[in-house]
Amino acid sequence: MSTVEAKKYEKALPEMNPVTKPFWDHCKSHELYIQFCENCSAWIWYPKAWCPSCGKRASIKWMKLSGRGKIYSYTIIRQVIDNSPAFQADLPFLIGLIELEEGPRIYSNVAAKEVNIGDAVEVYFEDVTPEITLPKFKKQS
Ligand SMILES: [Zn+2]
Repeated sequence: MSTVEAKKYEKALPEMNPVTKPFWDHCKSHELYIQFCENCSAWIWYPKAWCPSCGKRASIKWMKLSGRGKIYSYTIIRQVIDNSPAFQADLPFLIGLIELEEGPRIYSNVAAKEVNIGDAVEVYFEDVTPEITLPKFKKQS
């Protein structure tokens, strides 16, 4: 047992439920998985109990993605509305809409001060608590 106590993570954490738990479990293993509907070939993001395109449940599978993609759009957060001290310390920070190379688009932090539309990015994982690992992105090296 470690004698060093982990620094408390003070930012908002995602709430896990039976539908989202597989996503977070894969993140904990530093792998990016997103749901895919084998009935209608739709990517499903965020995790859902049924396919929003065709309505089927049994056709949803978790698919492993490469974690590579490009900046589809982004915004730079310069102020935190609730003045959360934990996020305040990160200002300014960048939130990107990442188009993954397999097709789905997800929002995430991008570890960069500036980006351009189309910049190549790749996922990395930040273990923030013993239960939660957050997928974040950085420019491809
Ligand atoms: Zn479907």
